[in-house]
Parts: sequence; C-alpha cells; structure tokens
Amino acid sequence: METLIKEITAQSIEEAVKILKNGGIIGMPTETVYGLAGAGTMPEAVKKIYAAKGRPSDNPLIAHVHESYDISRLVYIEHKYIRELIKAYMPGPLTLVMKSRGVICKEAVCGGDTLAVRMPSHKGCRALLKAADMPLVAPSANISKHTSPVTAQQVYEDMHGKIPLILDGGKCTGGIESTVLDVTEQVPRILRAGLITKEMIEKITGACEIAQHKEGDKVRSPGVKYRHYRPACETALYAADDIGGVLKRYDEECAAGKRAYIMCSDEAAKNFPGKNLLPLGGTGEEIASNLYDMLLKGEKVADIIIAVDMPREDGVYLGITNRLRKACG
Ligand code: AMP
Ligand code: MG
Repeated sequence: METLIKEITAQSIEEAVKILKNGGIIGMPTETVYGLAGAGTMPEAVKKIYAAKGRPSDNPLIAHVHESYDISRLVYIEHKYIRELIKAYMPGPLTLVMKSRGVICKEAVCGGDTLAVRMPSHKGCRALLKAADMPLVAPSANISKHTSPVTAQQVYEDMHGKIPLILDGGKCTGGIESTVLDVTEQVPRILRAGLITKEMIEKITGACEIAQHKEGDKVRSPGVKYRHYRPACETALYAADDIGGVLKRYDEECAAGKRAYIMCSDEAAKNFPGKNLLPLGGTGEEIASNLYDMLLKGEKVADIIIAVDMPREDGVYLGITNRLRKACG
C-alpha cells in the first residue's frame, strides 16, 4: 500500500472521511501527538489499528470527538464536576475515562466497561472530526513502544506501507500525550500525567489523586505498565544534579568511537559547552513540546542519547519526567 502525506484541505479531509467510513485507518494530527485513527464503531478498523502498531491487545484506545458532539451518547456522565472539567479544559489535552454505553466497539476498549474520551483542540483535527461526524478511536501513530510522532514525516517513518493517508497538520505543539483522568469516582484520579496538570484539575474539582502503579497492582490504565516511547538508539539517563556523571559518560562514549548526544533543558545545557546537544528548551511547555521530536531526531544522528533528568516533578514536569524516564531510563 502506498502511503500519502497530504496537507489538510477540504479535499484531503473528504478523502480521509471516505477512508474512515469504509473501515480504513489514517494518520491524523492532534495538539498532543499524531494519532492513528479509525471509526470507533467498526471492529475491522480497530483491528487494523492494533495490527499496524503491534499494540498489546489489553491496551484500550481513546475516542476522539468534535466538541459539538454530545458525549453522553457514548458514556454516562456520573458526576457534576465532569461538566465543569469539560467547560474548563476541553477541547484540549485532557482525556476523561467514564462508564461506557457500549456504542464504541468492545475491541477498542479491550472488553472493559469504561471508555476514554477526548476532544482535541488542533484546528485540522477538529475539521476532520466535524466532517466525519463520528467518534474516531486513535492511539499514538507509532509502532508500539517506539517514541510517539509529532510530525507527519515521523508518522510516515513508522507507518508507511500500512496506511493509505496521513493528514499533515504541522508539528504538534503539546508534544506529549493527553492527561488521562479517571472520573468514575467522586474524586478524579490521574492515570497518565500530561499538560492538564493535577493543579489545574484541582482548581475545578477541589481534589485530585494521582494513581500509583506498584508492582503486582491491577492496572487501571493498562498503557502505563508498558515500556514506552523508546528511540531506536541506545539511551542513558542521569540525575539532574549529576553533571560530572554526564560529562564522564559523554567522554567515555566518544573515546569508544560512539556518536554521543546530551539531551537536556537549556538550563542544564549551560554545563555542557561544545558538546553535541539535543536541546529541549527552557520552560516546561517547551520541554514537553520538544521531547519526542528530540528523541526521534536523536535516534537518527546518535549512537547514544545521554539524557539529563528534570530537577522537578510539579505541574507539567510530572508528565515530562514520566515519559523521559520510560524513554531513556
Ligand atoms: P495512547 O493511545 O497511545 O495515547 O494510549 C492511551 C492511553 O489511555 C493508554 O495509557 C491507555 O491505557 C489509556 N486508556 C485508554 N482507554 C482507557 C480506559 N477505558 N481506562 C483507562 N485507561 C484507558
Ligand atoms: Mg502511545
């Protein structure tokens, strides 16, 4: 199968919708990362998504809808605070896990009784969802365990030959996947950290928990237990204050003839003048936005990425450190 990358136009959206309505799957941009999308009510489309990714069959998909779509058709909205969260942060990088009405096929939710729903804010994605006028289930558009793509070209590299069309909506601005929030209980619980932070959720709901995944626990959000986000080259992760360790490793790798690159924030980069760098930026938002892009650029030029961990875990840094440690730890 030939895989075409097309800019988002009325015509390419029309083509995409036709593919989706026929049970096909496509690459689509969102504000977080690129998704691999199919019709949420069509088991054959969902099976294609799992096959193209090599995704474990117990890891459910998120249903994406336009903000004008009435999500009570898909899920039971059991708590008052859910409407308030939707008003405050959707469309945006927030995914809500609610009790499913069973409209989205069981293949997409791995037989579970809940459904994760999200309303992307990306302009091109919203135009697609509006035109399709149906929920699209979509995981990140990478081969399972590889780094999630943030450009159409990066989708192409993992998915060419497997899907007919990738809609090109530019580089994703968010850069890490949505916050996944379980809202089935009285107090919401973060299953996966992202750009909508615990602090932002608490502002609306008063309280918010963070799910702790310990060895042997029954996992509420199956995706978090897997090794994830890994670039194709070797990686090493050093603590934020271990500057000496980073420099020693860099020199050792270079002496062994390896192409070593240090991936770190602008702040940390001040310690590594003259070294090969994969710069992540200054603010938390910049670092999130550049993280996967630098991992995917890094795997092309480096034999080893030596990553420097973040010195904090508050706000968006929780989502960043979570990915960074899985990708490079
Ligand atoms: P991805 O599609 O690659 O962004 O991954 C989706 C994430 O959402 C994974 O961590 C899934 O485990 C999680 N997820 C999707 N549906 C559900 C659900 N019904 N309950 C809990 N977590 C979910
Ligand atoms: Mg993913």
